[in-house]
Amino acid sequence: MRIPILEHILSANDRLAAENQRLLAEKGILVINLMSSPGAGKTSLILRTIEALGEDVRIGVIEGDIASRVDADTIERLDVPVVQINTGGTCHLDANMVRGSLDQLPLDDMDLLIIENVGNLICPTDFALGEALKVMIPSVPEGDDKPYKYPAMFAAVDAIVVNKIDLLPYLEFDLSAFRKLVTGLNPEVQIFEVSCKTGEGIGDWADWLAAMLTK
Ligand code: MG
Repeated sequence: MRIPILEHILSANDRLAAENQRLLAEKGILVINLMSSPGAGKTSLILRTIEALGEDVRIGVIEGDIASRVDADTIERLDVPVVQINTGGTCHLDANMVRGSLDQLPLDDMDLLIIENVGNLICPTDFALGEALKVMIPSVPEGDDKPYKYPAMFAAVDAIVVNKIDLLPYLEFDLSAFRKLVTGLNPEVQIFEVSCKTGEGIGDWADWLAAMLTK
């Protein structure tokens, strides 16, 4: 009788992601895969993070978008090394795209790499990039029911940064119901409440990130 041998074969993307992870870990760089729907505030959080940590932490950024380099131009104004990837229609970044842009970053002079994924709550979940941490940004105008609709994303991340809390008085978003829903899907997740517009809550997020950098 033949006994079937089940091999866990990594997909090509997973293999490349593991290579990226090894390379970046060797350089001592913490890598964040930052995900959200379009307009939730990924670029704004990156700008606030640079403002909060940029004096002590050497930050590099990869910007993922279907088209344009408007976000990269915004980041570049802060004198932070940035590479723009245009996916040309693909709804997520993959490990190969990230690998291609690593050569354009000063890896020997970086502590933190923030990868801004394409705005999408579905596809980025399935494509590891080589990150150590997955972070997602839900924002108040999107509504508090998104964990019901995109459970895989909420379950996969290490931290959730709820943005635009300055709009809470004007919109129906039940933060405690949202927290309960999220921790039901992902008991270990860190949740932050911020406004990238006013700066509220950014300190807690930056402190957590700084602690992750020293781990
Ligand atoms: Mg952006």
